[in-house]
Amino acid sequence: MNYGCKSGKNFSQTRLALGTVCKISLYEKGTPELYEKLFDRIFQIEKLMSTTIDESEIARLNSASHNAFLDNSDVVDFPISFETYSVLQEALNIAKMTQGAFDPTIGSLVKLWNINSLTIADDGSYTSEVLPSETQIKTAKNFVDYTTIDLHSREDVYLVTLKKRGVQLELGGIAKGYAADELVKILRESGIEKALIDLGGNIYAYGAKSDITNFEDAAEFGTENRVPWKIGIKNPFDGGKGAVAVVSCIDKSVVTSGAYERYFMVDDKRYHHILDPKSGYPCQSDLESVSIISENSMLADSLSTSCFVMGFEKAREFMKTFDDVRYVFIKTDGLVESNCGDELKILDY
Ligand code: ADP
Ligand code: MG
Repeated sequence: MNYGCKSGKNFSQTRLALGTVCKISLYEKGTPELYEKLFDRIFQIEKLMSTTIDESEIARLNSASHNAFLDNSDVVDFPISFETYSVLQEALNIAKMTQGAFDPTIGSLVKLWNINSLTIADDGSYTSEVLPSETQIKTAKNFVDYTTIDLHSREDVYLVTLKKRGVQLELGGIAKGYAADELVKILRESGIEKALIDLGGNIYAYGAKSDITNFEDAAEFGTENRVPWKIGIKNPFDGGKGAVAVVSCIDKSVVTSGAYERYFMVDDKRYHHILDPKSGYPCQSDLESVSIISENSMLADSLSTSCFVMGFEKAREFMKTFDDVRYVFIKTDGLVESNCGDELKILDY
């Protein structure tokens, strides 16, 4: 499905993939062949890592795990592609670092909360007919534990061992970042100088917006420099319609996790899509949104979800571990906290 490009000039193309709206803007360099190549790459990754495509690698692994639970049989080592293996490896790495705030074995809870298959109502909001019971949540939580996963490789064979039957993997908190990084590789190989990638809010501002071509830009950025992209950080209090701040970046990914992105309401209570593996419920964060800015989109993706779950104080401490990674936290009380320095401009909102 292609949702069109600007008057035949391939300024941008938008397609549905990875459970979201993916938009790639190549501006005047956009040839149909290059767009095809880029979207094909996204679909390839989706086919490996999606939990909603039945024949994906992760879906097959989950189904084997579920069957082993039903039959009480051993889960044998499950062979997966090098790609899925490396994303899982990074996910487990972040899980360790965050002591399970980020957990790629969150699958049973994601399924129970119906996060990837919520119905969209006429007004565009998400709805869910069912609210899981406490007993169901407790049961599903038993299958969330990243320490039950082992990875090992022998020559060219990459294996996942599930030490506990029934554990369900979910890479929704990291796969879009991986996809963005892979698209950037293609852009580099293709000699493209600038592009904007937007995989459902997971942005990659590739290259710079432009060269310096006028006095105003020269005065602001210096003649040796380029004009950076300006990426808006959405206002989480108005459903992401307006912007709270603008971050200037060149060759950086900006990834946001927010409670406003995907949620449903029951009895005036909001149930959103970022879950606390410890409670089994949507996490009660004192953060309304977390944006992470890094060259590495996969890292930014996993960290944005992680920080959201950890909450403000823990997340701020945790982010000191990373040298070249910037953050913008928007707290529930509306305060904006960031380590971006001059690169961030906070707007009146
Ligand atoms: P989005 O995918 O909307 O951009 P995130 O990157 O924050 O937002 O990822 C949220 C997704 O990650 C959820 O839809 C779910 O699939 C998965 N997820 C939810 N909670 C966690 C968690 N604690 N750890 C890892 N993945 C999670
Ligand atoms: Mg994420």
